[in-house]
Amino acid sequence: MGHAAKFRRLLLQWFDQHQRKLPWRGERDPYRILVSEIMLQQTRVAVVEDRYIKFVKQFPSAAILARARESTVLAAWSGLGYYRRARALHGAAKQVVSRGKFPRTAAELVELPGVGRYTAAAVASIAFGEPAAVVDGNVKRVVERLCTGQGNSSQAIAEHPIAEEDYWRIAGDLLDRRRAGDFNQAMMELGAMVCLPGQPLCTQCPVSGLCGSRGPLAKTPKASRRKAIVRYALVRRNGSVLLQQRAKHHSLMPGMWELPALDIDLSVETEPLLKLRHSITTTDYTVLVHAASPGKVQGSRWTSFHSLHRLPLTGLTRKIMEKLNHV
Ligand code: SF4
Repeated sequence: MGHAAKFRRLLLQWFDQHQRKLPWRGERDPYRILVSEIMLQQTRVAVVEDRYIKFVKQFPSAAILARARESTVLAAWSGLGYYRRARALHGAAKQVVSRGKFPRTAAELVELPGVGRYTAAAVASIAFGEPAAVVDGNVKRVVERLCTGQGNSSQAIAEHPIAEEDYWRIAGDLLDRRRAGDFNQAMMELGAMVCLPGQPLCTQCPVSGLCGSRGPLAKTPKASRRKAIVRYALVRRNGSVLLQQRAKHHSLMPGMWELPALDIDLSVETEPLLKLRHSITTTDYTVLVHAASPGKVQGSRWTSFHSLHRLPLTGLTRKIMEKLNHV
């Protein structure tokens, strides 16, 4: 990409005027930036906004988060999914406390649990102004489209994707080193608001004059998604519900609480009370929730509806409870 200086100026001007107001915008506290970045790794902005505000209210500093019990942290994370991130963030807070200060460079930050190259660069640039470029899905899409047409046809880029390392190099070349944090956020904002995955809004794009494609690239075939049906038992008694804890060694959501699956010893009394869809990674689940009568369920316990919010529930169980108006 030529015209890097012009690109930076146009992008930052646009960002200064059009950026969304988000709770972590303008934040300089590295801990809070880390919380927002880890939450945003696999969860949509609209969901994260509210959860971020509650989380930093409950755990306003790394020191307070470090002192909290894991079950309390997981409960606060409930609904965001991918609980591995909550455990990692908890571990990172403990490391920050034991180091005595927050790491300031991307090279140091990447040593914290749950912090990869992207998150390290995001925190270092936004909190400390380090000229470290970020590359995420939004940045990749913007870079691909910008670079198309400069000796690379749309079809050629679709068939021979840019190598991972080249994204980082190109993003680093484009980076405004004096406003690295703003520039990084501006690139991601452009990808999220204008250079959209399907049809980009090129007529609203501040850098359209410098863009090689001014439109979507040729499509590559998408990986097909799996479909599956799962059934859960809703066993209720005097304002309480029977929940089961997932095994501590389970690779997915270990130790979280959920409704018992219906392949265990519970008798189903009715047609499903509730039917809903739930997607996890590459699988679309049809979830059927049946009222059932109590049976022996290993690792289960009765929990009153009003104390459900204190328990680390799986995202799906929380969704079911919300649909049934139990939380
Ligand atoms: S002109 Fe269109 S394709 Fe190019 S960066 Fe802007 S929005 Fe994306």
